[in-house]
Amino acid sequence: MPELPEVETIVRDIRPQIAGRKFLSAALSHDDVLRGVSRRRLLKDLPGQRVTGMFRRAKHAVIELGDQRLVIQPGMTGALLVYSKRPAGPGARYNVLTIRMDDKRYLVYEDVRRLGTILLLSPRQWEKYDAGIGPEPLDPDYQATAFAAGLKRSRQAIKKVLMDQKYIAGVGNIYANEALFAARIDPSKAASKISDQSYDLLFRELRRILETAVAAQGTTIRDYRTGMGESGTFQLELLVYGREHQPCRRCATRLVGTHDIDARITVFCYRCQT
Ligand SMILES: [Zn+2]
Repeated sequence: MPELPEVETIVRDIRPQIAGRKFLSAALSHDDVLRGVSRRRLLKDLPGQRVTGMFRRAKHAVIELGDQRLVIQPGMTGALLVYSKRPAGPGARYNVLTIRMDDKRYLVYEDVRRLGTILLLSPRQWEKYDAGIGPEPLDPDYQATAFAAGLKRSRQAIKKVLMDQKYIAGVGNIYANEALFAARIDPSKAASKISDQSYDLLFRELRRILETAVAAQGTTIRDYRTGMGESGTFQLELLVYGREHQPCRRCATRLVGTHDIDARITVFCYRCQT
């Protein structure tokens, strides 16, 4: 699933293309992506709305409309793109939400496997939703001490806690693996047992990695595309994710891949990460 750097890239690409535009009509291919909104209400409420802003929160792209927030959480195969003509051809069957805008262009959310989600919230409902998500790791007001205090509340494995959006926003499997390797922390260690010093390092490394990944326009392993339809380049800088059984870049020990921590792949170096 696209994580903070990928969704940030999508938002930066799409925002200038839709800013100030008015939505004229909307079409939805499948209802299974909708959360808390019916097809009927979505298709009735979107036309006539003007885009007043767009931002990222956690792994969501949030489009601000007059009195609504259109919230899209792209799935693994999800992409948000703007087309100058109505999309046609075989690929168009994956277009889940197609919005015609007043400049005759189309804002499209496409998703081959439809693992993404779409919400339509009032500003008040958005506030409530937003309050359930943890701090943004790149927020300049967020500090290592708050990061440590927050995550330490859990006795779960640090990797699980890093990926839990209640504790910290936007981090998924790829960047959790990379940050824990950079900070030399065993991914299975209980979050409550990690020292302040290690949290300090983890906080700095997590920020550095996320910032570098944003600059690289995200990580494309298979499906992720930027808002311009291109691949990201951070996959070239991954040190552990996707490298199980390969030598550790730091000590040459063979990296281990395990599914024991959460159902996802965790790749780590048992010598460097203790
Ligand atoms: Zn190592």
